[in-house]
Amino acid sequence: MLRQIREAMAGSIPAQAKLTAVARTIAASMVAEVCSIYLRRASGEMELFATEGLDPGAVHVTRMRPGEGLIGEIMRLGRPLNLSDAPSHPAFSYRPETGEDPFHAFMGVPLLRGGRAIGVLVVQNRTSRVYAEDDVEDLQIIAMVLAEMVAGGDVLSREELKDVEIAPRRSERLKGARFADGLAFGIAVLHEAPVAVGRLLADDVQAEEARLSSAIARLQAQIDAMLEGHEGIAGASYDVLESYRMMAHSRSWNHSLQDAVHSGLTAEAAVERVRSEHRAGIGQARDPYLRERLHDLEDLNDRLLRHLSGDGEKARVLPENAILIARNLGPADLLEYDRKRLRGLLLEEGSSASHAAIVARAMDIPCVGRLAGLRDRVSEGDPVIVDAESGEAYLRPRPDVVEAITARIGARAERRAEFARLKDTPAFTRDGAKITLLMNAGLAVDLDTLPDTGAEGIGLFRTEFQFMVSEDLPRFSAQTDLYARVMAAAGGRPVIFRTLDLGGDKVLPYLQAEREDNPALGWRAVRMGLDRPALLRMQLRALIAAVAGRPLSVMFPLVTSVEEFRAARALVDREVAWAVRRGRPAPSRLEVGAMIEAPSLIWHLDALLPLTDFVSVGTNDLMQYMFAADRGNPRVSDRYDPLSPPALRALKTIRDACAESGTPVSVCGEIAGRPLEAFALIALGFDRLSMPPAGVGPVKRMVLSCDRGAASRGLASLLSSSAGSVRGEVEALARKIAVAV
Ligand code: PEP
Ligand code: MG
Repeated sequence: MLRQIREAMAGSIPAQAKLTAVARTIAASMVAEVCSIYLRRASGEMELFATEGLDPGAVHVTRMRPGEGLIGEIMRLGRPLNLSDAPSHPAFSYRPETGEDPFHAFMGVPLLRGGRAIGVLVVQNRTSRVYAEDDVEDLQIIAMVLAEMVAGGDVLSREELKDVEIAPRRSERLKGARFADGLAFGIAVLHEAPVAVGRLLADDVQAEEARLSSAIARLQAQIDAMLEGHEGIAGASYDVLESYRMMAHSRSWNHSLQDAVHSGLTAEAAVERVRSEHRAGIGQARDPYLRERLHDLEDLNDRLLRHLSGDGEKARVLPENAILIARNLGPADLLEYDRKRLRGLLLEEGSSASHAAIVARAMDIPCVGRLAGLRDRVSEGDPVIVDAESGEAYLRPRPDVVEAITARIGARAERRAEFARLKDTPAFTRDGAKITLLMNAGLAVDLDTLPDTGAEGIGLFRTEFQFMVSEDLPRFSAQTDLYARVMAAAGGRPVIFRTLDLGGDKVLPYLQAEREDNPALGWRAVRMGLDRPALLRMQLRALIAAVAGRPLSVMFPLVTSVEEFRAARALVDREVAWAVRRGRPAPSRLEVGAMIEAPSLIWHLDALLPLTDFVSVGTNDLMQYMFAADRGNPRVSDRYDPLSPPALRALKTIRDACAESGTPVSVCGEIAGRPLEAFALIALGFDRLSMPPAGVGPVKRMVLSCDRGAASRGLASLLSSSAGSVRGEVEALARKIAVAV
């Protein structure tokens, strides 16, 4: 049949006649009385483009609104509809002009291209019958060939295609969530890149079968090797790799591919057909596990296409100003792209605590996530804007939007330049208080930014990031190497290493097997470290080895009780003694601190502080526990305001207790990097703030313009307010005393 279609397409007859000839050929070979082809107009309407069996007068006249009728239903579902009696289906929409009254049996399949439905192919019969599975499969293969031909301009001329939506063309704005701050304008690059399928119909079926078998064998061997070496598919854990391997060897996948080749398709077209089905399925799958598996399968199909083209192992080359588009990314995926060419990142899924978001922030790549429907709405090469200030993405933006964003990108660059000029200016308030500004870091890529920020050191080094971006548990030597690099990059500036803060939203498949109902309140941070002392001790040993006789500052996350801190501190002392016994240098100065992140400690500071050398307030966690609002859940995370009397009073209690006992204290949550919140912290008396690198410049500008005495006096009266938030009042205070927030 495919050959007959090809013949129908050949020759120089007008396009409309060609399309009608195709419909006729399909009807004849499917033994159907009707065959119709609908294509989607840019308006979203589905228009009858050709028919055999319906009234020819309906061609280009019958149009269905988006979602209307059985055609709309097929477009919506992205999969076939096989009905013995179409008129009795609830979605059926009667169109008298088509003369379809006598026809009952109905089979329609979407014309899928790159995972999107661009039209619908329908066959109909008078008698009520259910078409066989084989018929559905045949029609899907034909639909795929037809979709490629239509999109490739083989059937309709450019002029005729002008208003047919082969790929999305309208400007769109999608609302998502901010994962990493910034703005970018560039060209869409799909992470799961479509590999162009050239030839569709095989000249020699046997030769195609041989090509397919050989490519599958190479793919399977590649995945087996990945599993053995644990390397390769970035970020995938062993379990994921194992299930991936099982899929590559799965008989049903192999059979679907072989069947498609057997029917006359080239190996590439066979992969594309199987993939199109899966992609359409992904859109339907509600179960997250199933969705993940379908994604894996899609990825396998991509890999197989690359093997067929001989590019199985090659890396991607990016355009100058690439915006990466993906459903989600594994921890190391982003690191594989050329940073110099990567301007931004748009994700369909993910969360701000997801690996991709963490790495994007560390690499200073603007990122917006949770953009529903993103992958279906953007094509490779589309111009796109990442607006991570507002958490939006603009697809194929209008020129005025591009102009506005370009101006904002320019203004941002100017502000950055201004902050860069302040880099070496010490941060003193106008009334002479020295404020120490430090930066938070966690990956090797962060270290590069230290000299440019003007930060005086690293106030929080999140050691768990190394674990999160690894396939498996980083060895002792890898840990020591990283800590030594951090020390070298700091070049004598202070560094506070935080021990592993895993669990909660940072789950590692190789460490935590059990699922918890309430992970944020579960087995995490120092709790895990104390229950698995071998892991914590190995880390402490690596830290002691890395500082090699220089000063060491280490702090423990989510300490909840004085007992926990005592036990954790004892482990440090033990490891130092162990090193000394072996003749290795002890740190020249050892400082052990606690993070204050659990509200319980606020009422036990008198017992805790004498045991600590310093403390650091982790406001991200402290606030989520105080306000019982999951920091990673956008539905609740913004309901409370850190600039509220309860939050500010809690912070004041901590700062006053530290002042009284002479314990150095810093704030290292995200709020320390926001000028207005940092203004309030300084007014409360804090003088050490550790923040994301991008916060240092704006906060320094605020400090330089701030009269701390006036700020403290102004803030004092707000602490007893009965309002849920005093943000407006804090803003007014900053304005009144001319602070640049
Ligand atoms: C915090 O909780 O404020 C903090 C700094 O730690 P993390 O964000 O890594 O939990
Ligand atoms: Mg924390």
